[in-house]
Amino acid sequence: MHYLNRRRVVQVALACAGFPWAVRSQAEELIATDPQAITLGYVADAAKVDVKKNPTYKPGQRCANCLLLTGKEGDAFRPCNVFPGKLVAATGWCRSWVKKA
Ligand code: SF4
Repeated sequence: MHYLNRRRVVQVALACAGFPWAVRSQAEELIATDPQAITLGYVADAAKVDVKKNPTYKPGQRCANCLLLTGKEGDAFRPCNVFPGKLVAATGWCRSWVKKA
């Protein structure tokens, strides 16, 4: 059996046993050079938002308080409805930010 296949089998077994963190690595971290990230002005650190290019940005906005962020509260990297299959930084921001109720 190929090494990666064995690794995947172990990940699935751990996930089935109640350890979902075992498959976390399947989703990639969104990087700022991703074409969609560029389109939406995504940055992993909201403190680095270019306010001239992003006039809708207000201090305090970040992925952690965005309605579109999913996943587990408190995780540093979480799924986002705007970037399927990717993980965004809780400290990040993009132009699709929507205030969480
Ligand atoms: Fe972050 Fe919200 Fe943009 Fe997703 S939509 S990257 S959670 S600001």
